[in-house]
Amino acid sequence: MAARIISGTEVAAQIREELKKETAELKEKNNIVPGLVTILVGKNPASISYVTAKQKAAHELGFYSIQDDQPDDITEDSLLKLVEKYNKDPRIHGILVQLPLPKHIDEKKVLNAIDPDKDVDCFHPVNVGRLMIGGDEVRFLPCTPAGIQELIVRAGFETSGAEVVVVGRSNIVGKPIANIMLQKGRGANSTVTVVHTGTKNLEFHCKRADILIVAAGVPHLVKPEWIKPGACVIDVGVNRVGERISEKTGRPVPILKGDVDFDAAKEIAGAITPVPGGVGPMTITMLMKNTVKSAKISAGIK
Ligand code: NAP
Repeated sequence: MAARIISGTEVAAQIREELKKETAELKEKNNIVPGLVTILVGKNPASISYVTAKQKAAHELGFYSIQDDQPDDITEDSLLKLVEKYNKDPRIHGILVQLPLPKHIDEKKVLNAIDPDKDVDCFHPVNVGRLMIGGDEVRFLPCTPAGIQELIVRAGFETSGAEVVVVGRSNIVGKPIANIMLQKGRGANSTVTVVHTGTKNLEFHCKRADILIVAAGVPHLVKPEWIKPGACVIDVGVNRVGERISEKTGRPVPILKGDVDFDAAKEIAGAITPVPGGVGPMTITMLMKNTVKSAKISAGIK
């Protein structure tokens, strides 16, 4: 039987509706408006489109939002001062510095300058440490991994006791999602295995997975015969493999492939995310969720 398709587009829209309601209630009952600033340095087209999408989402949810554009040649010192300004601004609950930064700026230094309590991207070592400790220590979950967990839970998969296999160990996806799924709590409590280029038999591990999360950045790395029948497959990979002309706009658009051979895998898996339209739409939504949470915490609301 063909797998159920887990639509990130639909789940993201559902969460955004929930956030819109929560934001309106916060304003009405507590006079708080979640505030998000996105800092963009330079004119990298991909960065501009990411920041624009984040601002659009913030605007649609009713946030107080600022897009702070800075020139390519801003000094590291000036950028650090700018971050400090927003750290002190009580209207701002989330600060996002769009990466990559120009070469003359030390990215780590800038990210580490963000107040961990406003670090809605969850890149600051304090928040990475909080995630590792788990429980009440956790303030924010990093956006893409948090989106992955939401997709699994909302698709109705039991995570407690499930064999979760994560392909990839990056700091952005692999390590944090492995960490999230092994925590003792709802939507987690799994037995987690992380595989990478040093792993001896990738197929053996993937085949054991009740929930298979693939974040390798290698098109069609996971073959259909590596998937356990009925498994939940979350394909994080977004790989540009060419270009096509859009029928709508007449302009070239990228052809994207996931890390899993979707057409073949959907005949074996119980549920699977498509690429595009799977994990992708969840990331910005979880950034918005973190900003609302930050606003609530700052006002002492649980
Ligand atoms: P990354 O930093 O390049 O890490 C890739 C990981 O996969 C590494 O740990 C690497 O192992 C492992 N890997 C690569 N090839 C492998 C192979 N043949 N066998 C086993 N393991 C292999 O990538 P990332 O930032 O985690 O991103 C992964 C993919 O997810 C990319 O396609 C990216 O575009 C996508 N992504 C999507 C979203 C989104 O949808 N919102 C967000 C983030 C990333 P080693 O550590 O041994 O090198």
